[in-house]
Amino acid sequence: MSDEHHKSELISLVEELMADIDSKLLHPKNKILLYSRYLLSKLSWHFTVSSVSKTWVTENIDSKVNSYIRKWLDIPISGTLSTVFLTRNKFGLSICPPSVKFIQCQTVLRKALKTSPNEAINDLWKATSNSKNIQYDVYNSTKQVLKDFHSGQEDKLHTQLTCQGSFFTNITKFSLSQLTKIWSACQSNLPKNIFNFTVRYINNSLPTRQNLARWGLSPTSDCSRCLAPETLLHIVAGCQSYLERFTWRHDSVLNFLATSLQTVSGSHLYVDLPGYKSPSIITGDTYRPDLLLSTSTGTLYIVELTVGFESNLQKNVERKKSKYKELIREQNEHFNSVKFVNLSISSLGVFSKECCTFIEMLNDFDFQKQHQNYCIRRMTTIAIRTTYYIFCCRNKEWMNPELLSV
Ligand SMILES: [Zn+2]
Repeated sequence: MSDEHHKSELISLVEELMADIDSKLLHPKNKILLYSRYLLSKLSWHFTVSSVSKTWVTENIDSKVNSYIRKWLDIPISGTLSTVFLTRNKFGLSICPPSVKFIQCQTVLRKALKTSPNEAINDLWKATSNSKNIQYDVYNSTKQVLKDFHSGQEDKLHTQLTCQGSFFTNITKFSLSQLTKIWSACQSNLPKNIFNFTVRYINNSLPTRQNLARWGLSPTSDCSRCLAPETLLHIVAGCQSYLERFTWRHDSVLNFLATSLQTVSGSHLYVDLPGYKSPSIITGDTYRPDLLLSTSTGTLYIVELTVGFESNLQKNVERKKSKYKELIREQNEHFNSVKFVNLSISSLGVFSKECCTFIEMLNDFDFQKQHQNYCIRRMTTIAIRTTYYIFCCRNKEWMNPELLSV
């Protein structure tokens, strides 16, 4: 087969199969799965035996695939795909473009030639170690190709696309990485619209007024309530006239937490929510932490929950730490021990590093691993869904909905 023949077959294969996947009534995550598991493997024979160039694959095959991925995830043309190309433990969707598969196929081929027991084949490898092939000869395995691709994307998000990479940069620095798996599982259980919302939240391509103005689709980039620039942070965690919305989200998460901690035997629970004894019974009115739990062994747990924007994950930890320093000292005089649980989570339900104090508390209460994961999953899902609702209600009236429970 000539290269021209391979090229035309590759193009028609991709066009046909992608259109077919596109036409199915499937959740975007499943369309992506079909692409990754089915379509890419269909291309591997052409990618191995033909001598088309990487540039040709990028320009002709990647571009077709990327436009479908954008369509399925509702990502506008100005939104980067680098965040979805990352692995799941980096808040991506573990997709890779066809050109990466192409390099993997070439790597396998080159390695087979090089390590063949047949000397004539080794000579063939030597004779073809030219400028075109040298880029595949540097890799030892297909895994390494993938690793290289991912670090390239991460680098791009850290250094070039700082606005679209802001979520990624903050999360990699400040989140409790052992919980990323749970976050990813929560994300894949979301319905299509909220799933796509999380993807666009992560690469900052949601239709905020600032983005709309940047794209030439809105005459103004300002918030309708306070005239500050309407950024994502402003809508979901910043605008002073949306405070009751943020309180609703905070209390929805707190409400779930309170319900879960009711089962701790022999303890007294105080929660800053209607229907519970108020924490000020113990702390007075100066400090009103979100939740207090005193155990039969004389330990007082002070739980302070913050739901804030990703870029403030660490700042919120520090702020709460210094705010409650004095209270902890005071209460130490009345209890055998006082433990401060600084529960700072992000508006997209990502737990900060400091949330290890929360896990420790659940361990103290003998919550089994499975039960702990269940609690974290629920809290994450409530945070995502409430933030989604807050986003949808931007520039609209707030109807004071009931606390969200999922
Ligand atoms: Zn505002």
